Amino acid sequence: INNRNFASHPNIVKSALSDIEIPNEPISQFIFRDFGKFPHKVAVECSLTGRKYTFEELRTKSTNLNKSLRKKLKLQKRDVVAILLPNVPEYPICILGSIEAGLTVTTINPAYTSEEIKRQLLDANVKAIFTLIPLWNNAKAAASLTQKTIPIITIKSREDQTTPEGAICFNELVDSKCDIEDLVLETTNDTILLPYSSGTTGLPKGVEHTHRSIVATLCQTNSYYFKHSEDTTDTHQDVIPAVLPFFHIYGMTTVLLSKLSTLSKLISLPYFTSELYTNCLQKYAPHVLYVVPPIVIFMVNNAMVKKEYFQSTRSVICGAAPLGASDEERFIQKAGKHVDILQGYGLTELCVTHLTSAFKKSKLNLSASIGELLPNTTAKVVPADNPQNEPLGPNTFGELLIKGPQAMKGYYNKPKETNDTLIDGWMRTGDLVYYDDNKIFYVVDRLKELIKVKGFQVAPAELEEILRSYPDVDDAAVIGIPHVTYGEVPKAYVVPKLNAEIDLEKLHTFVNEKVAEFKQIKGGITVTPSIPKTASGKIVRRELQRLYKEENK
Ligand code: AMP
Repeated sequence: INNRNFASHPNIVKSALSDIEIPNEPISQFIFRDFGKFPHKVAVECSLTGRKYTFEELRTKSTNLNKSLRKKLKLQKRDVVAILLPNVPEYPICILGSIEAGLTVTTINPAYTSEEIKRQLLDANVKAIFTLIPLWNNAKAAASLTQKTIPIITIKSREDQTTPEGAICFNELVDSKCDIEDLVLETTNDTILLPYSSGTTGLPKGVEHTHRSIVATLCQTNSYYFKHSEDTTDTHQDVIPAVLPFFHIYGMTTVLLSKLSTLSKLISLPYFTSELYTNCLQKYAPHVLYVVPPIVIFMVNNAMVKKEYFQSTRSVICGAAPLGASDEERFIQKAGKHVDILQGYGLTELCVTHLTSAFKKSKLNLSASIGELLPNTTAKVVPADNPQNEPLGPNTFGELLIKGPQAMKGYYNKPKETNDTLIDGWMRTGDLVYYDDNKIFYVVDRLKELIKVKGFQVAPAELEEILRSYPDVDDAAVIGIPHVTYGEVPKAYVVPKLNAEIDLEKLHTFVNEKVAEFKQIKGGITVTPSIPKTASGKIVRRELQRLYKEENK
């Protein structure tokens, strides 16, 4: 084999499903396409306040926002706007209106501290922020930390709230129509979404998605074998809780954008609490659930969650972190055999690449697998230490590399990191996997340094940077350790400066003030004389993980 690409190598795994056609159109046009069929049905409703919008309202308000952003705020094509919001019914208006205006949307976790928000605002060069009135203070603090003037558009989560002084009222942008011509959108190359991910190494980076990569994801995940929603008719509309955060690629594509395009009714949950989620199951008897493993475990273990809440449920789709076969089984025992629990797999950089089809699951034992490749998607599994080497055959562990139309364009302003991750068009996942003789894939381990807490990304590099900025700390390393409900939590090793003594309680407080709650070092901080490193200075996390396991045998 001379070709470095190994394009025709027998171990390149092509999806077993026929390719599907992916329309070359803007995402907004793709989503709005069928809105006219049921203009007065509810598209999205807030589980907490009951605030809701019909398909027609979403369409009109998005178009009004598109025009207002260009005319009133003078935003220009390719400017970046940030959405700092929990899951609220206005979220799709912010996204679709901004994209129609030719802007790029970067999504920020609303639980972030002002420091964390500032970092993203600066990195993405944000020109305006959408937020909720209760988050105004934090957004304002973050904006002022950037030392730039960034307009902040605030949304009311309750009628009795008043727009803070200095903020721009969202309603004024979406309720009236400005006179400005429509834009022609460029579908293949323009970046429309910029979620952040640390990828295989380092700090969070902007992940550039285009109209094409997002339209592809919606077509692939709704293709014949994986279509979980039923068509909307005069008498039926699927109801789907939207608890997975819209700022993350999973909630954004598979739940929000996808389910709007299929005309389902989304019930948005601004945050997860056992009461809110259970009430949502009880009140709406949802048809499809999109979850992460901690939610499955919650539904299994919590007595408040009753079997009858699943009477209308057809499928539960679980992704973002591994779910064990026994948890799948326990869930079916609780919910009933009429429910399919199906795992999927994806990355911020690749949206979704694998899903389990209910049809195949009924024929084969697919417990704990991430399923098969989506249409139009190709994979290779390569030796973990050398991704340039020949692809491996079935039932052999290696790093998963993917090619498909759902892949990102690259990391924003980071050509080196892009080249390290996208090799000859193959995107490195940093995950250790194998596939069986039926081309069904299994995730074995994570090779990259990323830690996932409750499905949320925690980049060790970010915590290490904070730990190293503490006066008594000379060096630091962070790893993920298993946690019974969160999946993983961060654990830190710190080296004190010469003659210094580290007060661990103070160090914890120092970190906690700077990061969102889920990033806190709940696995504890251990003082150590040195951090294991390679000759080139890279932390050998495997060695720390081995040490941790030995200490906790
Ligand atoms: P994110 O970019 O936040 O979506 O994180 C992507 C990473 O989450 C993947 O590279 C995997 O390490 C992990 N992941 C996603 N889905 C699964 C799954 N079904 N099973 C195991 N790990 C998963």
